[in-house]
Amino acid sequence: MSNTQGDVAMASDDDDQVYANDEFSSMPSISQALRKTSLEQLLADDKAETEKADEMLRWYHGKISREAAEKLLKEAVIKYRNKSDMGGLFLVRDSTVSTTDFSLSLTADGKTYHYQIQEKKEGFFHIDDGPLIHGVECLIAHYTDSANGLPTNLESFCQGRPPPHNVRKTGRTSNLLHRAVIEGDAKLVSQILASPNCPDINAKNKTGSTALHMASYRGNDDIVELLLGAKPDLTIKDRNGHTVLHRACVGDRPSTVHLLIKRGHCDPQVRCPHNGWVPLHEAAMKGSMECTKALLEEQATPFPRSDDLETPLDVAEKYRRLDVMRVFENFQPSQARTNRKDWYHPELSRKGAVGLLEYSSLLSGLFLIRPSKRQEGWHALSLCFQRTPYHYEIKNTHYRDRFVHFIDDGPYLLSLEHLVQHYSCRADGLPCALRHSVNTSYKVKDMPSYEDYCNLPIPPGDEDAYRPDLPPRPSSIADECPPTSPTTPEPPTPFSKTSRPPLPSNPPPAGRPGVNDGELYKINVKHIKKGAEIGQGEYGSVLKGILTEYKGKKHKMDIALKMFHDASLDNRENFLREALVMQQLEHDCIVKLLGVCQGPPLMLVEEYLPKGSMLDFLLDYPTEVRVKQELYLWASQIALGMMYLEKQQFVHRDLAARNILIMTKRQVKISDFGLSRATGSGSDYYKASHGGRWPIKWYAPESVNYGHFSHASDVWSFGITLWEMFSYGESPYGDKKGIEVVQFIESGKRLSKPEKCPDVVYNVMLRCWKADAAQRPTFKELNRQFQEDPLYADAREFLKQNK
Ligand code: AMP
Repeated sequence: MSNTQGDVAMASDDDDQVYANDEFSSMPSISQALRKTSLEQLLADDKAETEKADEMLRWYHGKISREAAEKLLKEAVIKYRNKSDMGGLFLVRDSTVSTTDFSLSLTADGKTYHYQIQEKKEGFFHIDDGPLIHGVECLIAHYTDSANGLPTNLESFCQGRPPPHNVRKTGRTSNLLHRAVIEGDAKLVSQILASPNCPDINAKNKTGSTALHMASYRGNDDIVELLLGAKPDLTIKDRNGHTVLHRACVGDRPSTVHLLIKRGHCDPQVRCPHNGWVPLHEAAMKGSMECTKALLEEQATPFPRSDDLETPLDVAEKYRRLDVMRVFENFQPSQARTNRKDWYHPELSRKGAVGLLEYSSLLSGLFLIRPSKRQEGWHALSLCFQRTPYHYEIKNTHYRDRFVHFIDDGPYLLSLEHLVQHYSCRADGLPCALRHSVNTSYKVKDMPSYEDYCNLPIPPGDEDAYRPDLPPRPSSIADECPPTSPTTPEPPTPFSKTSRPPLPSNPPPAGRPGVNDGELYKINVKHIKKGAEIGQGEYGSVLKGILTEYKGKKHKMDIALKMFHDASLDNRENFLREALVMQQLEHDCIVKLLGVCQGPPLMLVEEYLPKGSMLDFLLDYPTEVRVKQELYLWASQIALGMMYLEKQQFVHRDLAARNILIMTKRQVKISDFGLSRATGSGSDYYKASHGGRWPIKWYAPESVNYGHFSHASDVWSFGITLWEMFSYGESPYGDKKGIEVVQFIESGKRLSKPEKCPDVVYNVMLRCWKADAAQRPTFKELNRQFQEDPLYADAREFLKQNK
């Protein structure tokens, strides 16, 4: 130990010192006591003393129901009726809705009340708007002193048992095991642990320390080993919020740090609830170079951030711990023990990610990582928890001389692999840890847990093996889009419960080269004025803007700018392909592309449709949309636009209410051509063979099962779009997951008729959803259908009057 470290350790008014000096100074040592009596007798007396000290905490009843709590309270009221009215009688039980909370059941004015005792952060509890109190026993003491907002203060309780130690701030007294640890007597500790009267291994003393906290601080490794053998709870914190690993660092005990992590599998990333410090912060603060090294050797994350966003290196710098600073400067991370192939999807959008996660049943802890649309070089983590997908932005920055990735105020991590390893070991702020990944073959793989990682061999510190992520290179349109080799369609794979169908993606159709941006009309950035954001698209934000000059003529035209913020070449290719598709189309019912602007960022410049997406319009202004006027007119216009696409041999593949834009209430247009494909002459369907976006609820069975896309599969999606329209923006199939929808459709069932939908329109939908694609109507028929329907007369009349 260096001088600095020694000074700091001595200067700290440590619990153990207080404990050792005050409490035991007048007591004989255990070995002295053993000269007069047996160990078993001492332990029995000690147990009786602990029980006596905990007498006033016997209000805890564990896992009992609300009804059982009411029954217990009622019985107690009857039993003690003559003594008092029993107002203020209470008990505490485990919450039935959360594993970390408790419930307080209380009688007052002849009634029973139940309150949730919520754990706001680890070990800190509150009731409703009451104060946040460390330790459940301290919270009960607070409401015993005075009602503080409850109908009465807590006066007496139904006899149960004391609450578990991990939710208490401190213990009531020191037991014999604590004393044996302080005396440093390993033989005695071992005898106590072997006795049937051994105190609870997790029992806390007056400073909230367990026996293992004390042994770790004192660096008494043989005792630490013995205590670890008794399987203590290693997440228990003392009153300062320290785990045993924090204590080993405070005590500057590098060998204990190794022991606790290797033998005990203590997690070095556990945070102190008071300030968010992990053991590495403590080691840095104490100036313990050896503990810092030990933690890093044991794979601790080097740059975690505290509640104040300080890393251990920041702390070392602040307290001028020069030795520790040097350790961080020379730190060479080892390779992360996870493989990008298992979870990285460079081509996937947010929608596609949700589709893929849904397809894998939204298992809790299921995740994947994909590029973010918001900023070049950023990524997004899509993670399922309780059957809901959540998306987290993975940003990056330069921290000192390193390029790091991070989520919110979480640790700085040196690569995406390190990030995945970190969050698969622990949730650390996410709703749950990353437990299963979806790999590039769309198979679900289980991730190793923290214990598994501890047992995996550490890869050698081979510089070639460890490749930190490099910052993204600025992109320019000139160097993008290498020609993509044509893909050969795979033979159709029948969909079965055990094999997942291939997901469709965006490779160019066979025989078509990659996008050549030379074919696109370029708009000079100086002719564009950017305005406010109007939406979030597949590749980034969509802005409103003004075009001041177009094709050599001065103009003042409203435009929509689809920004492209994406590092991956694949996505850039898709973005440009959307542009190329749109540029070839010229129709009143199709959104017009004016050109591309190289920016940066790269942008698609489109005509502006002031009323935005049809889905949003239906949801926001349902009263402005009438069935016989707007809905009929819009349906016929969509069919007309699709008829035009069919003539041009384009399959849309993503026809949905969200992709129809409204110019005026008399004119809607089809947009979002990101998934469109030319079918090519001689074939009426496009076959997809690799992964990509996956709007399953809009897809025909043959698209889901075999990746076949055709005009007939677009007709199926048209039927779903009609259903969205006539239900005024409801979500098709409600909460059903992708796989449930597939089963629903395969069992012959279909969406039911929306309330306001005329029978004739519902019949059209049902025809669009014929299992046999050949039996579905064509867009030509569909357009005619809407125009010939007597109801369309209203739409025609409406159109005429509004012309
Ligand atoms: P998209 O990338 O096509 O999914 O667009 C995302 C959102 O941006 C849409 O839902 C619209 O609200 C808005 N948007 C896209 N294109 C246009 C446009 N040409 N005119 C007006 N709003 C648009």
